[in-house]
Amino acid sequence: MQIEEPARRIPLAYDADVVVVGAGPGGFAAARQAARMGARVVLVERFDMPGGVHTSGLQGAAGPGVGGIHTELMERFAKAGYIYTVTQDTLPDWAGNPLSHYERRHKPDAAFTRASFNPEGAGSLMAQLLEEAGVTALYGTSFVDAVVEEAPGNSRIRAIIVENASGRQAIGGRVFVEGSGTGELAARAGVRYVRGGGAQPKTADWDGIDRPIPGGLLWIMDNIDFAATVRHQKSAKDPTLSKLIAEADAAGDLPPGLYRPRMGGSNVYGEAYIGHPTLDMSPMNADGTFIIWQNVPYEWALHMDDCAEDEARAKRALRGFIDAEARFLKKYVPGFENAHLSNIGRFVGIRDGRHPIGEHVFSLDDVLSDRRFPDPVTTPMTKTFFWDEYRKHTFEVPYRSFLPKGISNMLLTGASLSFTYDTIFMVMRNFPWCTQTGEIAGFAAARCIEKGVTPKELEWTAPYF
Ligand SMILES: Cc1cc2nc3c(=O)[nH]c(=O)nc-3n(C[C@H](O)[C@H](O)[C@H](O)COP(=O)(O)OP(=O)(O)OC[C@H]3O[C@@H](n4cnc5c(N)ncnc54)[C@H](O)[C@@H]3O)c2cc1C
Repeated sequence: MQIEEPARRIPLAYDADVVVVGAGPGGFAAARQAARMGARVVLVERFDMPGGVHTSGLQGAAGPGVGGIHTELMERFAKAGYIYTVTQDTLPDWAGNPLSHYERRHKPDAAFTRASFNPEGAGSLMAQLLEEAGVTALYGTSFVDAVVEEAPGNSRIRAIIVENASGRQAIGGRVFVEGSGTGELAARAGVRYVRGGGAQPKTADWDGIDRPIPGGLLWIMDNIDFAATVRHQKSAKDPTLSKLIAEADAAGDLPPGLYRPRMGGSNVYGEAYIGHPTLDMSPMNADGTFIIWQNVPYEWALHMDDCAEDEARAKRALRGFIDAEARFLKKYVPGFENAHLSNIGRFVGIRDGRHPIGEHVFSLDDVLSDRRFPDPVTTPMTKTFFWDEYRKHTFEVPYRSFLPKGISNMLLTGASLSFTYDTIFMVMRNFPWCTQTGEIAGFAAARCIEKGVTPKELEWTAPYF
């Protein structure tokens, strides 16, 4: 059944040069860069701070600056005391520990450095950086639709529709930046996209269901005595806590699905994020404080970006898992007796949402065939490709992967770039790169305003980074 939504007139609350949807690393950097170059920028963000998965989602992975706004962020976070770093000296028995999210494959006693930033502090600083640049940042504001002036093959967005404390409003602009992390602006504007999971190879044992790489809800527990946990792992010969998990399970203290085996199989991309056999954590914020991963069960094939029931199911289930895991840890695991659940992310982060189709869809083939482009956005980058047996490759990304097909005045950023699943998911969706893509898009948007052209008309010949 359907009902008709009556047409209505709504206020054009802002008319900007550049309108950015979403303030994750991509949208944040786009807004900051465009505003610094003199454009009038309005940014809409549904939560109360910029940073996306890395602040509102608690991710907080820090690392050496890769240049531009990313380096600025790392320096500002460090200066404010928001970076926390551990090494093999300060956290012994961490490398090679099966509970470690990032270092579990290391050799025991291997040298490592793990840095994170405090998500709440970093988000507040990022909000200040937007203000300093002169961005009009509307928090608590949800993008809900796009008003598109149709022209065959070359439509343009006239305005976006948002909802916030003032009700339903329109925001007009000349260039629109996709920073939602899930291709939502692109989709509402009619850009074609590949749905999450839809790009996985259809092998002989494929059962007909497209399963996105699972999203996750991150949470933080503090006051953990990790040395006591290590003593237990060693003395009870229980490195993965499987004996304690079995004990809790037998006592009815674990909900079905909380600890689940990793999956293999030819139609999944390795075991990454697929399964949750034991506690999965990483040090963050302060001694004794750890971020802990809860991922959506892969088998459920949830499309949280475009299905409200799936999103609600993920939120319910993961909060339930987190509650049960926190109580299990305190009751059964030595070192956690006095720990507290201190924080849960504001949203279930989506790893594999819509992949909008751009003027160039950047693919693994571009990487493996060493393709060079007339419009590179950076000088050649070298990265390790999980999907090519962890080999390193040097490659370029073209500006055309920032341009969605069919819309003339939109730029893509971050996890919404026009990339295939095997390149974006496995390699090109990290915080530094997403921040770089935003800065590139912000630069392009401001240039378009200066020159009176659309992003598609902008001549791009030299790398930005
Ligand atoms: C669970 C998880 C763990 C990850 N772990 C790591 C890691 O360890 N290291 C790493 O480097 N990367 C990691 N990533 C990847 C990385 O976080 C993302 O690829 C990156 O944040 C994408 O940046 P983005 O700017 O495109 O989008 P996001 O970070 O998703 O930000 C999008 C922003 O847009 C806002 N938004 C969305 N829709 C609307 C709307 N309708 N209206 C208003 N605002 C909206 C959101 O609230 C959010 O603030 C992880 C991702 C996930 C999901």
